[in-house]
Amino acid sequence: MKVPFVDLRSQHEEVEDEVRLGLDSVFARTAFVGGPEVTAFENAYAAFVRADHCVGVGNGTDALELAMRAVGVRPGGEVILPANTFIATAEAVSRIGATPVLVDVDEEHLLIDPVAAERAITARTQAIAPVHLFGQSAFVERLTPFADAAGIPIVEDAAQSQGARRLGQPAGSLGHVAATSFYPGKNLGAAGDAGAVTTDDPEVARMVRVLSSHGSERKYVHEVVGMNSRLDTVQAVYLSAKLARLEKWNELRCQAADRYRTLLADVPGVRGPVSADGNEDVWHLYVVRVAERDRVLAALAEAGIGAGIHYPTPVHLTAAYAHLGLPEGSFPVAERTAGEILSLPMHPHLTPEQQEYVTGALAEAVRGS
Ligand SMILES: *Cc1c(COP(=O)(O)O)cnc(C)c1O
Repeated sequence: MKVPFVDLRSQHEEVEDEVRLGLDSVFARTAFVGGPEVTAFENAYAAFVRADHCVGVGNGTDALELAMRAVGVRPGGEVILPANTFIATAEAVSRIGATPVLVDVDEEHLLIDPVAAERAITARTQAIAPVHLFGQSAFVERLTPFADAAGIPIVEDAAQSQGARRLGQPAGSLGHVAATSFYPGKNLGAAGDAGAVTTDDPEVARMVRVLSSHGSERKYVHEVVGMNSRLDTVQAVYLSAKLARLEKWNELRCQAADRYRTLLADVPGVRGPVSADGNEDVWHLYVVRVAERDRVLAALAEAGIGAGIHYPTPVHLTAAYAHLGLPEGSFPVAERTAGEILSLPMHPHLTPEQQEYVTGALAEAVRGS
């Protein structure tokens, strides 16, 4: 048996006919940038995360950069973010000319530690960027009190949590502004690169739109130095078709997570993920922890199972961020868990048989420790 890490083909087959009709119409009109398809998707995604505004952009990293710039992150400023995230959260800060200030995460959920975040505030802090890792939601309500008191905006990295909720409220509407990615493998994936910014603040939404379109709202009137990062019309067609199915697909991910939990309950040496109180997770990734992780990962690969590591190296230990000068030992939880985490296959079309095969192979690999 082969069990792929993700299964984009099965998702594609569900939307294929609908997408083809939508694309025929786009191609017939040769209207490739903007247009009603983009607006329709932006409105639908805003409603999905219960935000007043959504601005589609080119990818998730741009979404982060634009969201940060729109709330006032500037060259020389600082943005607080967790040490164990996809590199893009830090890259967005660096591209502005600001400095990522990394903090450790909590041991149980690997989400930004609110106490560490508060301690990291300086006179230069211009934003806090919690990352909703693995389909969870970060504990934003524990950041808000001190962030608000200090006048520091919260920029959510919601790339892995489309449809997740914290205390009943969707991820992507928990802070002042949120960035998300529609990279094909995300819970809501485009047919290429795409992303979006969501916010309730009309001025922030306007600024994201201006910055993402050459600093101009009206053609050839450039109010600031912007960039070009727009949501392609073709991607909007694809995303609208998939968004209509996202709730069902997230429910299937939850069912798959429940099955993993049952199957792994009696397997010694495998620590499964646990949803935090108040969270409704959407299981972008199903991350277990094991000893001798690299050996276990190799055994799974040998058995035809696509597993992954998210992420093998905390940001401060990458070559790209060596200049931060943060030695090993700076963030003990992020560093230790980076050697233990293992992402099992997780997608809406995972079958019970595949999961039995995965957990069987995992149990065997761990026994060999
Ligand atoms: C995917 C991802 C991004 C970046 O998205 P791109 O669309 O690839 O630029 C940012 N942050 C996190 C946590 C992600 O998983």
